Amino acid sequence: MGQHIGFIGLGMMGGVMAPRLLEAGHTLIVYDLNPAAVEKLVAKGAKAATSPKDVGDSAELVIASLPTPPVVKGVAETLAGCAKVKTFIDLSTTGPKVAAEMHKILGDKGIASLDAPVSGGIAGAAAGKLAIMVSGDEAAFEANRAVLEVFGKLFYLGDTPGAGQTMKLVNNLLAAAQGAITAEGMAMGIKAGLNPRTMIEVLNASSGRSSATMDKWPKAVLPRTFDFGFQIGLQYKDVRLCLDEAEAMGVPMVVGAAVRQMLAICNQEYGPQADMTIIAKLIEGWAKIDPQPS
Ligand code: NAD
Repeated sequence: MGQHIGFIGLGMMGGVMAPRLLEAGHTLIVYDLNPAAVEKLVAKGAKAATSPKDVGDSAELVIASLPTPPVVKGVAETLAGCAKVKTFIDLSTTGPKVAAEMHKILGDKGIASLDAPVSGGIAGAAAGKLAIMVSGDEAAFEANRAVLEVFGKLFYLGDTPGAGQTMKLVNNLLAAAQGAITAEGMAMGIKAGLNPRTMIEVLNASSGRSSATMDKWPKAVLPRTFDFGFQIGLQYKDVRLCLDEAEAMGVPMVVGAAVRQMLAICNQEYGPQADMTIIAKLIEGWAKIDPQPS
């Protein structure tokens, strides 16, 4: 049976995840700072809320897909003062520290919370094929299993708040490192005269393949569109969160630190809203090459 669900944050990810809940037979009340994003969901049958408080006063289950840890924390603080919400599920990447804070802020008011960061990009979100890394209260997880399954495959990582976030940071560190090293390797091959499309075909049949060579380069770098759908500012945020956590735990990350600096440079050069695949252009510029669409 369908539930009445609140959804806050209708950007690249939330904007394609929320409609899946409508298709699954739930009713939605939605909010985003961007009115155009809200309008798209209203056109599909959702009700528009006037604020996050309006959402928390209307639905027992509230789900969010928001950009940064401070934004998620602010929304959790608002929800803690709302009349109706009983469970909050955060799909954003915030890191374990903010997930634990969110759990405490809401738990003190008797509201259950799950951190449930996702991986799989816009394509995975639209197709319901994300990996969803959930942690927090097991009863809340079981109660909301069917709702979350609309988004993809669930991995329950235990009842410690933030465990899902730790898993997600590890994943995104690896994904970012693959992007950075692929940009370097491709620039070298292109400068030596190799055809970039042939290089990607070879890599994808060889041991150098990764999500960068299999997905990101074919979709957004070879055609020179640089529109894979994940902002460099958000990727930089994820790697920063990861390295800060690792450092606090006494886990040195030498390669991770280099990746972090490369993302810092990309962020500075192209602006935080540029697509993460722009890292290819950064290295091509340093290598003094100008590849054409292929
Ligand atoms: P996005 O910037 O496209 O979307 C965020 C949305 O939140 C925007 O529509 C923005 O207007 C809205 N927003 C910001 N502050 C708000 C507030 N206070 N109240 C209500 N709405 C607010 O980002 P995205 O790419 O959709 O990513 C969302 C989260 O998912 C991030 O934490 C990101 O790290 C994570 N993520 C993204 C991807 C991806 O491929 N894009 C993949 C996995 C995880």
